[in-house]
Parts: sequence; structure tokens; C-alpha cells
Amino acid sequence: MADVPDNAPEHCPGTLSEQAGKTSACQGCPNQRMCASGATKAPDPAIAEIAVKMETVKHKILVLSGKGGVGKSTFSAHLCHTLASDDTKEVALLDVDICGPSIPRIMGLEGEQVHQSGSGWSPVYVEDNLAVMSIGFLLSSPDDAVIWRGPKKNGMIKQFLRDVDWGELDYLVVDTPPGTSDEHLSIVQYLSSAKIDGAVIITTPQEVALQDVRKEIRFCQKVKLPIIGVVENMSGFVCPSCKNTSQIFPPTSGGAERMCEELNLPLLGKIPLDPRIGRSCDEGRSFLNYAPESPAAKAYYSIVQRIKDYCSNRKNEEQ
Ligand code: SF4
Repeated sequence: MADVPDNAPEHCPGTLSEQAGKTSACQGCPNQRMCASGATKAPDPAIAEIAVKMETVKHKILVLSGKGGVGKSTFSAHLCHTLASDDTKEVALLDVDICGPSIPRIMGLEGEQVHQSGSGWSPVYVEDNLAVMSIGFLLSSPDDAVIWRGPKKNGMIKQFLRDVDWGELDYLVVDTPPGTSDEHLSIVQYLSSAKIDGAVIITTPQEVALQDVRKEIRFCQKVKLPIIGVVENMSGFVCPSCKNTSQIFPPTSGGAERMCEELNLPLLGKIPLDPRIGRSCDEGRSFLNYAPESPAAKAYYSIVQRIKDYCSNRKNEEQ
């Protein structure tokens, strides 16, 4: 983070100042929690350690959403399942939704524990080439509440990035909580030297969700996080009996398609509602194995192909 970020108010004392996060100018500033935590005052040596650790990770992808309940974790899980269906690729899913970790359940790993080895925490494996790490593995029960303030959450994210034995990975997918909070600032800050490929933003079609997505997009622009594209989830419902399509969440303002045109962002695709997606998540199974020929599964394959193309083009541009 620069000394005076672009989004700071006029009388910002500077993020390196002793007064950072504490002056009257800081009241209402979007960075106040981070500045008040002290994390901005000196470069955290963990950033360099994480950059070294991430040298063996080819692509880092964040999955973001403006709102909760739009299917972000479901998308993250199925993005990983699809990437890992190529058994020449090593894939990992990191769940940094510290207060609401749903990935263990969606990936069928509830009750699993993380083990400590000489080279760090070992992630939990769904397949030989698909590893998962989540705070959910550190809780004694799925119903335990994690009520942590910013600095403690930041510390846990730092540990996840630095102390997990990720090994050689083709893709690290990071599932974040909804909105723009401590977890987002932390992950962007800690991966600042390790180069994030970009963010995939998940929304539903209705305007109330898109309003929050626009904020998420502004966040990405402010922290200079590239946007891979937007996914419209729950985009229409095809009745499995009569095959008629209905709009459960009507795109009253043109949906993600119009928003992407206005903001000049790629729309990666639209995933229709399918009740089997929720059922397979509850059962901890991949929907893509369950209904591989469904319109929703086909939408997933097409979207994931576009993400893979983006990552490989980016790698080529860097070389
Ligand atoms: S919270 Fe941080 S960025 Fe915002 S005004 Fe204060 S010092 Fe500046």
C-alpha cells in the first residue's frame, strides 16, 4: 500500500505515520481497519517470505463477490474440480472466509484435520492433485463461531500463505468472503510481491447484487488487482421437466452483461440455476460428475476454459 493510497481522504496522515488509522481524517476511510492494525506502517517481512513460497505456484486466482449467497464458494469449488480434472495439473483451493468457511463441506471434507509436518501445515487432499486448506479444518466443530478482529484474521491468512506446504502448484484458487473487508486487503497485500493473475467476480443477475459488484470492481481497481472477468450465477432456471426457462432473479437493469459492457469487463459466462448444484454441494460432491451434460455444467466448462486461456496468455506476456 502506498503512503497515501488513491482512495484516502484529503487529510490522510500517510499509512506509514504513527497516526495512521487514528486521526479524524481516518474516520470513515475504507482503509481505517488496516491502518489502525499497524499492518501498513512497516513492510511486513512475511510479504517477501510469501513471495519465495509462491515461486512454485504458477497461477494465483482470487474469487470475489459483492454479496453473500451468490454462489461464490460453489463456483470456487467447481473451478478447482474442473482445473483438477486434468490430472497433469496440481490445484489447490484456499478458503480465507475466516468467519464463514463453507469449503470443507462443499468439498466433502467436513471433520478433516490439518497435520503439521517438517515443511509446514499439510493441506487436506480431495484428489491426488487437488489440495484444500480452510480455517474450517482448525475448528473442533462445523458449528463453532470464529469471532476475530482484523489483525487476528490477517495473521491467519499470512500463515495460510506462508506456512502451508503447498508444494508445486499450477493453480492456487483463493475463495474470499463477500464484500471488501480485512481478508481482501490482507490477501492482496501478502500476495503483492507474488503476483496474482487476477480476480473472478461472481454475481447474480438482479440489480441489488450488481450494485455491490460495482463496489468490488472499484476495490480491484484501487488495489490494482487485475479482473479476469465476471460470472453471472443463478442466471435463469431451466425446468428439468418442461424445459421452460424462467428468471428467478430477473436482470432488471440488464444483468451482468450490461454491467460488463458499461465497465468494459469480460463476461466469462452465465451459469443457470440447477437444484442439483446445491444438493451436490451439501453432499460434498462435484456437480460436474453428477450432471456433466447439464447446461450448468457446460457453462462451467466454458468459463473455466476462458480462465485457463487468460492465465496462459498472461504467462506468455510475462515471458
Ligand atoms: S485510515 Fe489510513 S489511508 Fe485512511 S486516512 Fe487514515 S492513514 Fe490515510
